Amino acid sequence: MSSLTVCLTHDIDRVYKTYQYITHDLKRGNFRNLKSLVTNEEPYWMFNEMAELEEKYGAKSTIFFLHETIPFRPFRPSEWKLSLGRYSIQDKKVANTIREFHANGWEIALHGSYNSYKNPKLLKQEKSILEGVLGEEVIGIRQHYLNHIEPDTWNYQKEVSFLYDASLGRTNGIGYKDDRIKPFQNSESGMFIIPLTLMECYLFNEAGHDRQKALKLAMKWMDHSEENQVPFTILWHQRMFNESEFPGYRWVYEEILKEAVKREAEFYLCKDLIGANSFIDL
Ligand SMILES: [Zn+2]
Repeated sequence: MSSLTVCLTHDIDRVYKTYQYITHDLKRGNFRNLKSLVTNEEPYWMFNEMAELEEKYGAKSTIFFLHETIPFRPFRPSEWKLSLGRYSIQDKKVANTIREFHANGWEIALHGSYNSYKNPKLLKQEKSILEGVLGEEVIGIRQHYLNHIEPDTWNYQKEVSFLYDASLGRTNGIGYKDDRIKPFQNSESGMFIIPLTLMECYLFNEAGHDRQKALKLAMKWMDHSEENQVPFTILWHQRMFNESEFPGYRWVYEEILKEAVKREAEFYLCKDLIGANSFIDL
């Protein structure tokens, strides 16, 4: 039996490319990407690519869907990213995608909206909207931007019947937050906590956007997970699978999957991790 456990996760922050044409591509002179603005391509709709890639390696993942409700306020440009890029879980195309992934064995969980980490009412609302689409209970959550206050957020999440939270992660680099490397149960709230090993954007930042270096760094953390017998839990946003928009990201993800298969790793969904007693410090 392999000693490596891999837990693949995706946060679905945005599904349509909108304001980023102005804030990202025009500023950086990425005129090639502006083509999709006039041709009606949807460069962030990478769900098929994501599913096919994982299937190729016999893997499944946990997908966190966001239902952002922050209003658009023209005089708060810092919030534009949150309000203008949002989508609805109930949008027909999104809802069908959610159901299709679920029917095929992927795990669907909630990506709690930006302010929900301090608002149980919002958590409850978003959970029930997602459950309405899914036709089943949702037990897992990761907060948008990994926003959370300990233990308040975990208490709120538990209050509205979540079982696990996957928001424990660094927001300024790769590796674990406060060296908490192993999934555990928070004693006050009873929530199961799944620490994040690394997020793709920080991986690429630390690698100076060099794909080979990014892969090397990822492998270093995979070794660390194997040595310490903890899950290698990674976060790849689905839009990053578009190679023309985010060169190298898809390639590194596939190399990680290849290496995991080579090491005979076991792929775990988040919900299965919390059921695997050997991972949990009680
Ligand atoms: Zn997010």
